[in-house]
Amino acid sequence: MSDVRNVIIIGSGPAGYTAALYTARASLKPLVFEGAVTAGGALMNTTEVENFPGFRDGIMGPDLMDNMRAQAERFGAELIPDDVIAVDLAGEIKTVTDTAGTVHRAKAVIVTTGSQHRKLGLPNEDALSGRGVSWCATCDGFFFKDQDIAVIGGGDTAMEEATFLSRFAKSVTVVHRRDTLRASKAMQERAFADPKISFVWDSEIAAVQGDQKLAGLQLRNVKTGETSDLAVTGLFIAIGHDPRTELFKGQLDLDDEGYLKVAAPSTRTNLTGVFGAGDVVDHTYRQAITAAGTGCAAALDAERFLAALA
Ligand code: FAD
Repeated sequence: MSDVRNVIIIGSGPAGYTAALYTARASLKPLVFEGAVTAGGALMNTTEVENFPGFRDGIMGPDLMDNMRAQAERFGAELIPDDVIAVDLAGEIKTVTDTAGTVHRAKAVIVTTGSQHRKLGLPNEDALSGRGVSWCATCDGFFFKDQDIAVIGGGDTAMEEATFLSRFAKSVTVVHRRDTLRASKAMQERAFADPKISFVWDSEIAAVQGDQKLAGLQLRNVKTGETSDLAVTGLFIAIGHDPRTELFKGQLDLDDEGYLKVAAPSTRTNLTGVFGAGDVVDHTYRQAITAAGTGCAAALDAERFLAALA
């Protein structure tokens, strides 16, 4: 079966490119589906990344991803900027179908399709991403020292982000569309006790204002319809993430929130020869470095799996 690859990698963020680098250096000639529109993954939508080790002065997100891509390619990874639209992962030989309907076959598959942060769906939201609008306090909190910040959401993540941001910020305003939080009691209490955090209840964001940088928010009270302005220079959107696992439903085990289940600390899924890494698995850490780390682990797991077949 000469057309059967050793390994196919689905996804091209830090997890996918790292898995590609390692499997390429192990002479496994990986085939990587990068995605049609979003090759390079989540960091293509940001500006400065200051917390990826090795870049003392920081690096722009797209430049970091270009470097990872080139590094994987240098060792022979074959990269295709296309989506996978169907998979059959159960058998010894796995099949992966691209948008042209071509079926690719491999002995091992590494899934690194990431997760999509939920958006408010407002004009300006994407344009101001990395320019005041953020989805990750751990990533960007440091940029907002002594500034007034809003956090949108009412769950555990929103409370965690608000509490974390209060270390840097002058003030943190949590805007929530209900009058109670969904967050756990402990997280709520911590946020309520924090003198820098205040709450605007029953409200949603009507407009994200600003041209080159976030200039403020217009809020709308969902009960009265009244609008008001909130003067902030930072907006953290914490209304949830959706793992990209639609393609794998019915084949790979998913948890209640739709994330891919692996037999941690390995990256093995429920199907032999199929591995998962990065944000499609991880709803706890969600960082480029952790995605790259598990991408490396998935490559090593795949390599050992393939060696045992030989
Ligand atoms: P992703 O980067 O999400 O990549 C997934 C890839 O899979 C995408 O390329 C997508 O196109 C592809 N894909 C999905 N489905 C398919 C399919 N069917 N076929 C083919 N390809 C597919 N982290 C930090 O550590 N520092 C930061 O400063 C930082 N800033 C951030 C700023 C923003 C705006 C965002 C959104 C995130 C930021 N993060 C940051 C988080 C970081 O980007 C993620 O943790 C990381 O990118 C996850 O990597 P991943 O490889 O798991 O997935």
